Amino acid sequence: MLIFKQIKDLQRYLQAPAVKTRGIGFVPTMGALHQGHLSLIAQSRKGCGVTVCSIFVNPTQFNDKSDFDKYPNTIARDIEMLIDAGCDVLFLPTVKEMYPDGLEDKKPLNFGYVAETLEGEHRPGHFAGMAQVVEKLLRIVKPNKLYMGQKDYQQQLIVRHLIRKRRLHTELIMGATLREKDGLAMSSRNVRLDAAARALSVELSKTLKAAKREIRNTKYEVNAIAKRGAEHLKSIPGIDLEYFEIRNSETLKPATTRKEKKVALVAAKIGGVRLIDNMLV
Ligand code: AMP
Repeated sequence: MLIFKQIKDLQRYLQAPAVKTRGIGFVPTMGALHQGHLSLIAQSRKGCGVTVCSIFVNPTQFNDKSDFDKYPNTIARDIEMLIDAGCDVLFLPTVKEMYPDGLEDKKPLNFGYVAETLEGEHRPGHFAGMAQVVEKLLRIVKPNKLYMGQKDYQQQLIVRHLIRKRRLHTELIMGATLREKDGLAMSSRNVRLDAAARALSVELSKTLKAAKREIRNTKYEVNAIAKRGAEHLKSIPGIDLEYFEIRNSETLKPATTRKEKKVALVAAKIGGVRLIDNMLV
């Protein structure tokens, strides 16, 4: 696996006809890799001749400084995992390399409601920072295909808007969420859960699953099902619920009809760690 720290070196390599014509697949990450990330690498390897992974903990998408400071760094292990997974190229830039002119976004996009609700409401500025760095990365790597996880459902929806609005030439492919045996969605933040929080964390996926089952098998109103899920999670000591919602899977507006495609989304702090999860229902 080749490792590049500088944009110009990465671009010189990727733009060479012998590489470019093989088709570039791209998996952007913030490191502390797990099987969820590796499943995206595997999909890219199937769909493209060259797979590029980036590891960059982007300061502009952290609204909470202590979350940024505590973000796990396991770079030596990450590199080994990527080599074992058959990744071709790792892009490992510094903050200075990505933001030579400072962190401010000179031309931020307005994504409207889809970025203002849910995570947008609870993590102000998060999606602006995320879109800022994803656009930079897409302009650097110029991938034919971009692989992102359903785990961050709202994020991939916003990146779809970003690609359309900026007329970037890449196809976004959403990979399924990989889970631990008990259902907890894999996340780099899970290592920060202590035993008690880890035991409670399963409630998030369990409640999503129950909502999915109720939507498919009962005549309850969507609204009532969402409310029940939220009440259930709120009633559990140790779970600090931020939201449990059932939304239209394209617009993220509250889902009201049985017919429309829906997604149930949850965010909660457990043992001081903020976790998110979702399921298409
Ligand atoms: P992150 O390093 O958390 O920014 O995630 C990098 C990419 O991996 C994003 O596209 C995430 O949606 C995706 N990802 C994170 N967790 C999972 C998971 N459990 N299953 C599948 N993809 C994931």
